[in-house]
Parts: sequence; C-alpha cells; structure tokens
Amino acid sequence: MRKEYGETTALDGVSLEIRAGEAVAVMGPSGCGKSTLLNMIAGLDRPTGGTVTVHGENVGELSEKGLALYRRRRIGMIFQFFNLIDDLSALDNVALAAQLTGSPARQARRRALELFDELGIADRRNAYPAVLSGGERQRVAVARALMNRPALLLADEPTGALDSRAGEQVMDLLLDLNQIGQTLILVTHDDHLARRCAGRLVEFADGRVTGEHTLEPSV
Ligand code: ADP
Ligand code: ADP
Repeated sequence: MRKEYGETTALDGVSLEIRAGEAVAVMGPSGCGKSTLLNMIAGLDRPTGGTVTVHGENVGELSEKGLALYRRRRIGMIFQFFNLIDDLSALDNVALAAQLTGSPARQARRRALELFDELGIADRRNAYPAVLSGGERQRVAVARALMNRPALLLADEPTGALDSRAGEQVMDLLLDLNQIGQTLILVTHDDHLARRCAGRLVEFADGRVTGEHTLEPSV
C-alpha cells in the first residue's frame, strides 16, 4: 500500500497482514508513517496505491457512506489525548457511539453501562471528562471504542499522556481485551507497552516496514 500527500510519500509500499485476534505493535521514529497507516486502516483516508482489506472489505473502494458505516461498525479507536467530548458525561460520550449507528438511546445507555461495569468505572459514569483522571478518561475512551464491538481496536500512543500507574492499568485492560479475542493494533514509542500487550512488533522507518519480530509474553 502507498500513500502520498502531494510530494510527501508517507507510506512507501507497506505490506502487512494482521490475523484476527492478533495484537500488533507498530513502532518507529516520528514522521515514519505510523499515524498514516492507522488512518488508512480506520478508513479516515484512502491509500493512493494498493489496497487495505479488513474482513474481506476493500476499505479504499467504499463509498463515503460505506466508509462512514465501516468506521462506526468495524473500527474502534483510542488516542493519546482521549478525544472525549467535554460537554457530555462519561456515559453519554460512550452511548453516543452506538446512537450514531442508529441504536435507540435506551439500548445505547444499557450497553454503555455494561461496559462501564466491565471496565471498573461504573462509579464515574455521570462525571464529565474534565473531572476524570487521565486513566479514567482513557478507560472511558476504551469503552467508547468497544461500543459497537469493533473487529479492530486501533490505539495511537494510548498510554502516552498517562502516569506510569494509569498507564499500567490501561495496558492491563488492552491485554485483557486481546486475551478475550480483540484484535489490536498499537502505535507507540513505548517499548514496554509493545512488549506487554503485543504478540508481534512491526518496525517502521520512512514509510516502510523494516523489521518484524515475534514478542514473547511478558509480565
Ligand atoms: P508518524 O505517525 O509516524 O509520526 P505520520 O503518519 O504522521 O508519521 O506522517 C508521515 C509523513 O506524512 C510525515 O512526513 C508527515 O508530515 C506526512 N503527513 C502525514 N499526514 C499528512 C497530511 N494529512 N498531509 C500532508 N502530509 C502528511
Ligand atoms: P503522531 O504524534 O501520532 O505521530 P502527528 O503529530 O505526526 O501524529 O500527526 C497527527 C495527525 O496530523 C495525523 O493524523 C497526520 O495524518 C496529520 N499530519 C501529520 N503531518 C501533517 C502535515 N504535514 N500536514 C497535514 N497533516 C499532517
């Protein structure tokens, strides 16, 4: 797959196959194309060459409407700075993800509450993002990402803004999710995060894959 932005080649012939249930960490220096890769997989942007196939769907060939559906139904994303909506409660942030796919509000809230229970943040459901700790915000963001039972959970530096304790909690959560079968793609600079949560490390430089390693599970 290739991606050019004008004169800039962000992805220069990347070929990568990720199996269902795998947890893959993508690492490499700033500017090497990691975010671009996530954006292609998430259907936020289209490759300029080659194809991205997720569950048999050629993402780059979907119509705008098809892409919007694909993003909401197939993909969950979490980010370094959480990207929660400040003027919605934690629960409403999460419920909104299902309402956007057409779920009735009551059903969305019920599913959101289940996830708050599972992720250990039920007591924070009515709080607004501003009063939540970083770790709590990221757990809310994980709940939001899981609302529509995505085929793929994409994480871009998910512990980058967290202190080490909160970071460990989020790592535990990602590990647990992968152990129950969630496919995970993790972009990070953090070697510890990669080794803790991923079974395979893909090294990137200058828009290319420069190495792949199997990671041994660590504790
Ligand atoms: P990383 O996530 O590894 O830091 P990026 O994927 O953000 O790398 O960027 C890869 C290259 O593509 C960089 O040179 C970056 O400036 C460029 N790039 C990324 N997105 C865009 C864009 N929307 N428009 C123009 N150039 C971009
Ligand atoms: P990260 O810190 O994850 O590597 P970046 O700061 O490189 O992310 O990029 C953040 C977002 O901005 C990405 O979605 C990327 O596609 C976009 N971007 C990066 N470089 C450029 C650029 N030169 N012009 C426009 N958008 C860019």
